Amino acid sequence: MRPLIIAGPCAAETREQVLTTARLMADAGVSIFRAGVWKPRTEPGAFEGVGEEALLWLDEAQSETGIPAATEVATPEHVRLALKHHIRTLWIGARTTTNPFLVQQIADALAEEIKAKTVSPAELTLLVKNPVSPDARLWKGAIERLRECGVKTIYAVHRGFQTGQPTPYRNAPTWSVPFALRLEMPDIPLLLDPSHMAGKTELVPDLSAQAMSLGYDGLMIEVHHSPSNAWSDREQQLTPDELKTLMSNLVLREDKTDTGLSNLRRQLDETDDTLFMLILQRMQISKQIGAYKREHNLPVLQEKRYAKILKNRLDWARKNGLDDEVVQRIMEALHEESCRWQL
Ligand code: PEP
Ligand code: MN
Repeated sequence: MRPLIIAGPCAAETREQVLTTARLMADAGVSIFRAGVWKPRTEPGAFEGVGEEALLWLDEAQSETGIPAATEVATPEHVRLALKHHIRTLWIGARTTTNPFLVQQIADALAEEIKAKTVSPAELTLLVKNPVSPDARLWKGAIERLRECGVKTIYAVHRGFQTGQPTPYRNAPTWSVPFALRLEMPDIPLLLDPSHMAGKTELVPDLSAQAMSLGYDGLMIEVHHSPSNAWSDREQQLTPDELKTLMSNLVLREDKTDTGLSNLRRQLDETDDTLFMLILQRMQISKQIGAYKREHNLPVLQEKRYAKILKNRLDWARKNGLDDEVVQRIMEALHEESCRWQL
């Protein structure tokens, strides 16, 4: 079914919470119910998930609602426990995809369980999140390792990257990476996880709409019945009502012929996002320079310094085929705004 909607809380917290949310997700028409049982956390001491007990709740939820439950696995032990409790949809988190040793151990554990006939490959669905860094080959490699055991239903989940560049998102989209993966593995359907990408609820609907425009096959979204009381990822979880609104606003683009243009426009918008974040960063530095000059009784406008900056920029522009006059205008505008921030 397109779009495939996977939704549920970041983490399974209590039996009540799991069952309540699963019922609401079934009502909303969600295809797969998600809830993390083991949570990879940046710092020790944060909520690391309930563990095995929560698998009982997930199993209860899937029996009651009829929609399959999914959870994250990061070790062979997680695989064995999840399968023991009849969970058949497993996701590999971004931090795990990053490590080929772990991915191989998970693939081997799956192969063992299949060999022992605990589960058949046809029953399994695997969701492979992108690695933390923008590396399409590492992502592809993880999918290849997991595919070895014979599982046919594998989705790639784009949740964004840590790039070290300024971005309004928790994880930068860097759309060129999933596009590269799609070119290499056209048979692997692609989902967007707008929750971990955005990091805040306000940006989730827009990213979801963008994914549909780009021809993504579905979404994996975090939903909590009471986001402000969630035990993890509070800022990014939608309420069940917000999910319903989001789903009813999704416009499916069946015509994939325009994907090329949308891809390029998306890359353009993303470049502009970065460009303006950098301009803001430049102004903030100017402000600090302004404070320094005030303290040391220096004039704001220093002609020689500006002439040198402009000359360097124009030399660089000529070498790179940018028009002199346009570059001069951009520099003048930047300089003017910088002076204002210094003052
Ligand atoms: C999650 O989906 O809850 C999760 C931890 O995601 P990621 O691996 O993308 O950070
Ligand atoms: Mn989360």
